[in-house]
Amino acid sequence: MAEPKENVLMEKIVSLCKRRGFIFQSSEIYGGINGFWDYGPLGAELKRNVKELWWNTMTRQRDDVVGLEATIIMHPQIWKASGHVDTFSDPMIDCKTCKGRFRADQTNEIPCPQKPSKMVSECHGEKTAPRAFNLMFQTYVGPVRDESAIAYLRPETAQAIFAQFKNVLETSRQKVPFGIAQTGKAFRNEVTPRNYTFRSREFEQMELEFFIKPDEVVEAICGKVATTAEAITGNIEHPTSNAEHRTGNPQPSTLNPQPNWGWEAWHKYWVEERIKFYEGIGLPRTTLEEYWQKPEELAHYARACVDILFKFPFGTQELEGIAARSDFDLSQHERFSGKPMGVFDEELRTAWVKLPKEKSDELWRRYYENRKKYLVKMGVAEEQASKDATEDANGLAKGQYIPHVIEPSAGVDRLILALITNAYSEVTGTDDKSRSETRVILKFHPRVAPVKAGVMPLLKNKPELVKKALEVRDRLRPWMNVFYDDAGSIGRRYARQDEAGTPFCMTIDFDTLGEKPELKDTVTVRFRDDGRQERLPIGELLGWLQARIR
Ligand code: ATP
Repeated sequence: MAEPKENVLMEKIVSLCKRRGFIFQSSEIYGGINGFWDYGPLGAELKRNVKELWWNTMTRQRDDVVGLEATIIMHPQIWKASGHVDTFSDPMIDCKTCKGRFRADQTNEIPCPQKPSKMVSECHGEKTAPRAFNLMFQTYVGPVRDESAIAYLRPETAQAIFAQFKNVLETSRQKVPFGIAQTGKAFRNEVTPRNYTFRSREFEQMELEFFIKPDEVVEAICGKVATTAEAITGNIEHPTSNAEHRTGNPQPSTLNPQPNWGWEAWHKYWVEERIKFYEGIGLPRTTLEEYWQKPEELAHYARACVDILFKFPFGTQELEGIAARSDFDLSQHERFSGKPMGVFDEELRTAWVKLPKEKSDELWRRYYENRKKYLVKMGVAEEQASKDATEDANGLAKGQYIPHVIEPSAGVDRLILALITNAYSEVTGTDDKSRSETRVILKFHPRVAPVKAGVMPLLKNKPELVKKALEVRDRLRPWMNVFYDDAGSIGRRYARQDEAGTPFCMTIDFDTLGEKPELKDTVTVRFRDDGRQERLPIGELLGWLQARIR
């Protein structure tokens, strides 16, 4: 039976990634290790670019977000407080016939043992009952391997942000609303790693925790919380109606943060910001979808969660999740650590005393109810929960509250795979000897392209050309990743760069040396996507390239 087209595409991508040094199987010489992948020379550059663009967009270009770089192994209580020790598990089943081990919710297909990018049907043998399998990798800290030394490799980067919330707040001179961003490795012992790097056991995340005032606080200060419609100037359809809960391709909008925004407007804002980010690095809106989780799919503490999906060859799947997580995380760490996680807000204190009694009573009641609901859900006895919630709500009058959070959480590796998939294109033409050939072009956005410019002397046996080309390379090299290539015909060299996704190639020829005096010290710039060529003065190259890769 013919393989589905999308599998053929995945196989071509996997083979290209290996051939050109984007992605290798980890420990390949020993037969590999399932769910672990290495990035080769081009992949490492691509990944670096993606993380740097995320970091720049999310922190350096904003006044209201700062960064954090925390450890991978943290105090095990962090994972108790976050719920990961007790609930971060997948249902696992074993097949009594083929001895395979699967996720109970994904039993119809498994990755082919020979070609992990390919899915094959699983055998129909008798299965065991599902058992919860915790996805955290365990290790021991120190020389003694007992219960007290157990620690975990972090399954997400987010929790460190909550644990360091107070330190960052006190040292960064930020005030709510503000965010803390972090990128780094995360580890999940996935039952069935699948779809190439899409579901790996070691991967990287780029996460932002954006802390906001609870709606009751916004209302006390501003009189009213803006509805999403009021906050939006643009034309986003509100998602809900269609059966699959997908909005289709997201529509553009403009949102400028305002003091009267509650969690809904902030949530919508971050969904839009993140989609704009993807567009800015070359993933068109048409390749993305928003999936608004249905109420029954939401975690109990979450107010809303939107998955940004990408149309991968193996299906439309999650690239990033953007969740409105209420004050759950900080509250949990406050209870487990015994350290206060609340903030003091002078504006709230001043506003509160001016509120009509009816209004302050109403806001007090709503805050109290939310706090109590959370405490009871976490197992605090009714009476104690009422007492604690009363104390929390009394804090409002003193300007105190626990911030809520919006969490855009993206995976680096899934984004790399999306970028490669999106960039992949084939052209059929003729080679040097007029034979038909199909060539691959990776049409990366110049911002993410691993190599920004190829620099080539027309001929490698002409020292003047080589010298000039090396001069051009050295002029550009401090500013960007360039690749010098003098091997083979110029057509072959262009083709090699096309396959690596290099957006521009600079060729140094006899005109550069002054054969035509009016072209002295100019080079030919060749564009990857359409083969177009332009002549540019060497002195202008750096500025010209920088304008295109920033
Ligand atoms: P999924 O439902 O696909 O397992 P998730 O909802 O558990 O993902 P989150 O916990 O929200 O994922 O993690 C945030 C992001 O981290 C995901 O959107 C994804 O990009 C990335 N991610 C999560 N698990 C993996 C994994 N096993 N391999 C690669 N990336 C991952």
